[in-house]
Amino acid sequence: MHVLKFGGTSVGSVENITKVIQILEDYKKSQPVICVVSAVGGITDKLLKAGHLAQTKDESYLSEYKTIKDIHLNILSRLIPNVDKAVLDKLNTKLDNLKSLLDGIYLINELSPKTSDKLVSFGELLSSYIITETMKSKGIDVVRKNTQELIITNDNFTKAEVNYNTTYKNIQEYFSNSTQGVTILPGFVSKSQQGEITTLGRGGSDFTAALVASALEADTLEIWTDVSGMYTANPKLVKQAYPIKKLSYQEAMELSHFGAKVLYPPTVQPVLDKNIPIVIKNTMEPDADGTYIAHEQTNNLTVRGISNINDISLLTLEGSGMVGIPGFSKRLFEVLANYKINVVFITQASSEHSICFGVNKADANQAKEKIDQAFEYEITQHKINPIVIETDLSIVALIGDNMKSHQGISGKMFSTLGKNNINVRAIAQGASEKNISAVISEHDVKKALNTLHEVFFEVKTKQLNVFITGVGNVGERLVEQIKQQKKYLKDNLKINLRVIGLSNSRQMVFDEDGISLKNWKAVLSTGETASLEGFFKTAKAMNLRNSIFVDVTANKDVANLYANYLKESIAVVACNKIACSDTFDKYNQLKYLSRKYNAPFLFETNVGAGLPVIDTLNNLIASGDKVTSIQAVLSGSLNFVFNNFNDTTKFHDVVKQAQAEGYTEPDPRIDLSGVDVARKILILARESGTVMELEDITNDSFLTKANLESDSVDDFYKTLIDDDAHFQKLFAQADEKGSKLKYVAEFNEGKAKVGLKEIPQGHPFYNLEGKDNIVMFYTQRYKEQPMIIKGAGAGADVTASGLFADIIRIGND
Ligand code: ADP
Ligand code: ASP
Ligand code: MG
Repeated sequence: MHVLKFGGTSVGSVENITKVIQILEDYKKSQPVICVVSAVGGITDKLLKAGHLAQTKDESYLSEYKTIKDIHLNILSRLIPNVDKAVLDKLNTKLDNLKSLLDGIYLINELSPKTSDKLVSFGELLSSYIITETMKSKGIDVVRKNTQELIITNDNFTKAEVNYNTTYKNIQEYFSNSTQGVTILPGFVSKSQQGEITTLGRGGSDFTAALVASALEADTLEIWTDVSGMYTANPKLVKQAYPIKKLSYQEAMELSHFGAKVLYPPTVQPVLDKNIPIVIKNTMEPDADGTYIAHEQTNNLTVRGISNINDISLLTLEGSGMVGIPGFSKRLFEVLANYKINVVFITQASSEHSICFGVNKADANQAKEKIDQAFEYEITQHKINPIVIETDLSIVALIGDNMKSHQGISGKMFSTLGKNNINVRAIAQGASEKNISAVISEHDVKKALNTLHEVFFEVKTKQLNVFITGVGNVGERLVEQIKQQKKYLKDNLKINLRVIGLSNSRQMVFDEDGISLKNWKAVLSTGETASLEGFFKTAKAMNLRNSIFVDVTANKDVANLYANYLKESIAVVACNKIACSDTFDKYNQLKYLSRKYNAPFLFETNVGAGLPVIDTLNNLIASGDKVTSIQAVLSGSLNFVFNNFNDTTKFHDVVKQAQAEGYTEPDPRIDLSGVDVARKILILARESGTVMELEDITNDSFLTKANLESDSVDDFYKTLIDDDAHFQKLFAQADEKGSKLKYVAEFNEGKAKVGLKEIPQGHPFYNLEGKDNIVMFYTQRYKEQPMIIKGAGAGADVTASGLFADIIRIGND
C-alpha cells in the first residue's frame, strides 16, 4: 500500500489537481492508494487573515472570505463543468458554515486557539471534498474519509500532540474494512479526546500522511510537492541548489528541523519507527527522481545540506552568580517548557558565565518576562543580569551524518562566513555532530547560504559579482573583454564572472542575476540616474558574495568611496590612481581596511597599464627580497610624444595626436607636467615599503613657465604652439650627442625624482618604442642585472586587460 500526500501548490490550481488525479490513477492500477491532501495553496493563510480581521472588528474580513469562496467555487466549476446541484449545494453549505464562524468571531471579537483551529480546518475539508467529487465525476472508485474521526490528539490547539495508540487503532480499523481503490483524506486536521477540532501545526499534512503510513505499515510514504525533492539548500534562496538523491532519516530530520520547509519535522519519526522510506516528489515533474529517505545511507559525503531558520531572537542569561552553581539551566529551561516556548538553539560558554539560546521572534518577549520573573531574586542581588534580547537573526546550519569523522568543516564554514564579512553571533555544534549551526543577522542569510553552498557543494566554480563604474574608453573594453571571456573563465578557471552593476556618469543599472552583456549599452541607457553614493548603497544592499567594485574613472569622488566599499568586504579594483597617490595616511588606511575586512584592494593598472609591475614587486617583497632602486620610463604618453617628436614635427601636433589616440589623461597637462609619472613612482616606492608623499618627489619639469601656468586645456595647447622653439631646442641638444629624450622616474635610497633625460645609445631605455614602458628593479637579489619588465604601458585595451587580470586574481584567491 502506498500513502501519498499532496501539498498546497499541488492542489492549488485546476491544472495541478488534474495532474494529481492522473498520478493517483496510475498508482491505483497496481494497488490501493491513500491520498492525503493539504488545503488549496495559500488558503490556510487567508483563513487566518480573515479570522484576524474579524477579531479586530475589521469588516474587510468579508472580502477575504469572498476571495476564499470564489477560489473554491471557481476550481470546482472548472474541474466539473456540469457539476451536480447536490455537490455544489454541499460545497456552498460548507462555505456558509465558514462564513457563520467568521461572523461569530467578528461579533465577539475573539479568536482563541480553539476557534482558530476550527477556522483553518476548513482549508483541508474543502480541498479534499472538491478532489473527491472531481474523481467521482470521472468514474474513479474513490471515497473520502474525514481524518478528524481517525487522528486523536490532546487539546493543545494549533499544534496538538497525537495519541498514537488510539490513532493507529482507528486508522487500522477503518482501513481493514475498506476495499476502496483510492481514499482521500484531509491532512492537518484532527480532534481532541473531547471531540474538539484540533490541528497538527502549520505544515502538518505531511505528518497526517506519516501517521497513516506508519499505522498501516505502508511500503512508502510519498510527499508530493512543488520542488523535485529535498535540496542542498532552499532552492528559492540558492539558485545553484540541487535535489539530494538519498538522505538518512536523521539527516532529513535535522534539515527539516533547521528550516527545510519541504518536510514538516515531526513527519520522520512515525515512519522511522517502522522503517518505511519517505520519497519526496514533484507533482509538476513526476518523472524527476526526487529524494529517497531511509535508514543509514552509505556515502562519503560529509555536508549533505544547508538550511536556515529566520525570525530568531537570541536571549542571553549572564552573570557571575551562575558560575559553578548547579541547577541554573534546569530552572531556565523549566520556565521555557512551562510556557511552551520552543528553544531552537542553545550554547553555554564553558566558563558557565552565560547561557545563550534562540527562540522564535514571537516568543522572545514572553520568554524574557517569565525568566526575569523566575530569577527575580538573583537579579535584585546582582548575581545575574536581566535577559538581553537580540532580534532579526537567523540560524544557518550545515547538516550531515558523516561530519563527525571529518576535521575542519566548522573551520571552513566560519572562515567562509568571515571572508564575506558575515558576523557570527553564536555557534552550536550538537554532540552528535550531525549539525553545525551559526546565528547570523537575517540580512546576511541569502549571502551566507550562497557562499556556503558554493564552498561545500559547488567547490568547482566561484562566482564573482562585479560592479563597474566608468564605462568610457577603458571601461567599455573591459566589459567587452568580460563578455568575450565569460565562457572560457567558467570552463577553464571555474570562475563565474557576472557583471551586476554598471554605471557611467549619467546612468546606472543593476541586475542581481547578472546584466546581459549582449546589449549592455542599450540596457545601461535605460538605467536610473547615476549617483556614486547610490551605486555604493545598491552594491551594499545586494550583499552578494565575492563582490568587486571596479573603478574605471579618474574621479576623486569615486576614489573617496573605496573605504566604504572595503568596509563592506567589497573588493576594490582601480585603474584610477588618485587613491594610491593621495596622502600616505589615506593610502595606508585603504591597505589596512583591505586586510581587516578581507577585501582585496588591487590597482595593478596604476603603473604600466596591463604590465604586471605591482604584482611582480609584491611577489619579490613577499618572498623576502628588498628593493634598493627603481629606474623606469613609466609614461606611455610621454614616451609616445618623445618618440614621435623631432625636428620635422611640431610638439603641439604630437601631443594632440597622443591625446586623440587615447594615450594621455583627459587633461594632457597631468602627463606632460610629470605629475602622472610622479604618482606612479610614488606608488612603486610605497609598495616597496617606503613612507613617501607626492611633494617629496623632485620634479624638474621640461615645460615652460607659460605651459605650466596655463589655466585650461585649450590655453595649454596655445602655449605649446608659442613655445615650440623651446621644445625644438631640447630635441636638438640631445640629438647632437646621439641621445634620445626619455621621461624617467627614479627611486633610490628612499628618494624619488622624475624628469626628462637624454638617454645615450646602448642604455636599456634608448630603444624604447612607441608607448612602451620599462621598469628596472634593483633588489638584494637582482643586484647587478635588474629585473626588467617592459611592454605596452598605455592604451585602452591593455589597461582593460590589466583590470581584468586583477579581477581574476581575486577569483583565484
Ligand atoms: P507543500 O505545500 O507541498 O507542503 P511547502 O511549501 O510546505 O510545500 O514546502 C516546499 C517548499 O519548501 C519549497 O517550495 C521550497 O521553497 C521550500 N524549501 C525550503 N528549504 C528547502 C530545501 N532544502 N529543499 C526543498 N525545498 C525547500
Ligand atoms: N494547510 C496547512 C498549512 O498551510 C497544512 C499543510 O499544508 O501541510 O500549514
Ligand atoms: Mg508543506
